[in-house]
Amino acid sequence: MDLAFECALFVVGLALGSFLNVCISRLPRDESVISPRSHCPACGAFLRWHDNVPLLSWLLLRRRCRHCGGPISLRYPAVELLTALLFTACYLSFGPALATAKFCIFCFLLVGLIFMDAETGLLPREFTYSGIVLGLALSWIAPTDSTATQFFLRVYGAQLPAQAQLALLDSAIGALVGAGFFYLAWALYYLVRKRHGLGFGDVALMAMVGAFLGLKLTLLVIFSAPLAGTVYAAFLLLASRFRKTPEMGEELAGQTSGREMFLAQELPFGVFLGACSLAAVFFGESIWRWYLGSS
Ligand SMILES: [Zn+2]
Repeated sequence: MDLAFECALFVVGLALGSFLNVCISRLPRDESVISPRSHCPACGAFLRWHDNVPLLSWLLLRRRCRHCGGPISLRYPAVELLTALLFTACYLSFGPALATAKFCIFCFLLVGLIFMDAETGLLPREFTYSGIVLGLALSWIAPTDSTATQFFLRVYGAQLPAQAQLALLDSAIGALVGAGFFYLAWALYYLVRKRHGLGFGDVALMAMVGAFLGLKLTLLVIFSAPLAGTVYAAFLLLASRFRKTPEMGEELAGQTSGREMFLAQELPFGVFLGACSLAAVFFGESIWRWYLGSS
């Protein structure tokens, strides 16, 4: 019975991942996700239903369009498979509970936003704003772990509200703290460097993450995402140095071009926020337990 449900959820994940691909291709360009129906991005030919089956069509067509032979991006099966795996992981983590539904919705939105930010540098409001509303609303049916909010309420001597209100409060505080932190970072960076380091889309994304995760897990994302971004930037810098130096024959030349490349590289920070939020869904509780136990 459990296995049957997991398989069903996997198939639902594949189907929704397929719809997510349409959103990723069209939302950043302000196109409708409903019409026209799916077509090849290269030649515009409409897809027949059997060329539009998640995962299988991509394999059977051997990664090429049936009409023009143009390549079909690896992103299509990757998004479908990732969504399906995350849906199954939600069920394995949260069991037959409303939390599973809530976090499936969260994963769906995050996968969409991660790929849209990676491809276009945009985080469409259709996803972030509806995510904020959904996160707040769903805190009623699947409450967040409000330990952190309770802690601060006690510190300030405030009365603890009833359970349902506490969940909504925790969700709202998570949204405010998540968005507030990156809004401040954005403002400071702008004051110092006179250019934008983050987009406002990142701030909206963090409001959505906070609304879904509540304060405790949002704090985790606030600290881990910049760390992940820095590690990635350092890796890029190193990789470019190793690639450039032998060709140029001068040590300094590699260094300069590495730094230039680093500065020119517009890091899609939403990708790191999204990936760390996904990690927080499944590993956040264990990470907190490990951190509190070892300090
Ligand atoms: Zn084509």
